[in-house]
Amino acid sequence: MPHYKVAIIGAGPAGYFTAQALQNARGEGLSFSIDMFERLPTMWGLVRSGVAPDHPKIKTVAKVFEKIASDPNFRLFGNVEIGKDLDIEEICPRYDAVVMCTGSSLGNKLGIVGEDLPGSLSAAEFVPWYNGHPDYVNVAVPLDGDTAVIIGAGNVAMDCARMLALDPTELDATDTAEHALAAFHASNIRKVFIAGRRGPEHAAFTSPELRELPKLEHTDVIIDVAAVHDAHERAFAAGEVEKHVAANLEAWRLIAEHPRAGRERSMEFHFLSAPKEIKGNGKVEEVVFGINEIKEGKVIDTGKTYSIKTNLVISAIGYHADHIKGISVRDGKVENDQGRVLGTNIYTVGWAKRGPSGVIGTNKSDASDVVKLLIEDLNPEPKNGGDITVVIPQSTTIIDQAGWTKINEAEIAAGVASGKPRVKEVDIAKLISLAE
Ligand code: NAP
Repeated sequence: MPHYKVAIIGAGPAGYFTAQALQNARGEGLSFSIDMFERLPTMWGLVRSGVAPDHPKIKTVAKVFEKIASDPNFRLFGNVEIGKDLDIEEICPRYDAVVMCTGSSLGNKLGIVGEDLPGSLSAAEFVPWYNGHPDYVNVAVPLDGDTAVIIGAGNVAMDCARMLALDPTELDATDTAEHALAAFHASNIRKVFIAGRRGPEHAAFTSPELRELPKLEHTDVIIDVAAVHDAHERAFAAGEVEKHVAANLEAWRLIAEHPRAGRERSMEFHFLSAPKEIKGNGKVEEVVFGINEIKEGKVIDTGKTYSIKTNLVISAIGYHADHIKGISVRDGKVENDQGRVLGTNIYTVGWAKRGPSGVIGTNKSDASDVVKLLIEDLNPEPKNGGDITVVIPQSTTIIDQAGWTKINEAEIAAGVASGKPRVKEVDIAKLISLAE
């Protein structure tokens, strides 16, 4: 059986599902040694630093990742950064194929005046802050005002809004980073607004996320009944309604009709609200929205505005890929043709390939499609490019699978006394020492 070597860059869902697709190719008479590289000492990508702490079920996929990593032909190189510790040019000749699974870590910009004022954050900073990503521990999140504004109508906006609008006691038994949990307990935020620039029928929220809202114990969820009614009328007047839109409209109806309990905390949806300007003297004080309307299916600016006083604005309007030395990034993605980086032995899977869309499971089919192409392209004779370990600088402390297992177990053990799934360590040096 021919035996090939593949390097996977990035230990998130796309990386693990790529490894799994390669392992599954054994049934086709091929075998692969897999080396996975990850710049952090911790693994699982967005499952660790993206998924909201109050959604622990989604994180159980990590068990699948660990099973994939337990294969004898799988090696982990954690705490090794491509472009810093190792260059892509050093990796490519040593492997039959290299798969970039590096995601898209940068938040898109609104491009409006005041966006860079203190108190205006991207979800690309706020989410990893509450999830304990070592690079985001020191993000300044002002929680002293009573109002927060979230811009965007996707699931990331929803996660940000819930994290701010839940009673912090609901997060006590989660893996919310300790610094963020303390900040949420001290937070004065009681009103969270979510602003979408189009109508409720256009929102990118998925219906399971909407359906959980009326069940929140400590938070009133508010949407104008008329806005839901109008969205329903517009959607059905336009002809056949897509299944997910119909499911969302039904979820909106349930939210609108759910009696408000007069709770101290609220989460309120504003649609047809396009961010125009963030005002403030040295920090965010107010967000100005243009009021849109929908005419003949088109979203039109009415020229009217309204504003919300706040000192915290979080924009959750999508992501793009960061630059990686030696890799061409275009339109926020690794430049590719269906996952192939043309003219190289490099491939890409996940958000780095297709942009920030889909749920974690989407990466499984994505990986399987790209691995099919990768297999088609393999030379009949596997390459013998030598082992990568000789080029990794001596000064780099590699976190291998055994080391990562120690970190994982130490974090889980640290959570037992307080009934949490884990207590995340957020300091790189401490993480490395946990792996020893
Ligand atoms: P998303 O689903 O693409 O939503 C982005 C939102 O930002 C849209 O409502 C979009 O509105 C809005 N937007 C874009 N540019 C804007 C601008 N300049 N001004 C105002 N609004 C703007 O992206 P996401 O929320 O980052 O989520 C990324 C992916 O992760 C999605 O596939 C999502 O489902 C997934 N995810 C899933 C879960 C889960 O399963 N629980 C949790 C988190 C994320 P328009 O539609 O008008 O462009």
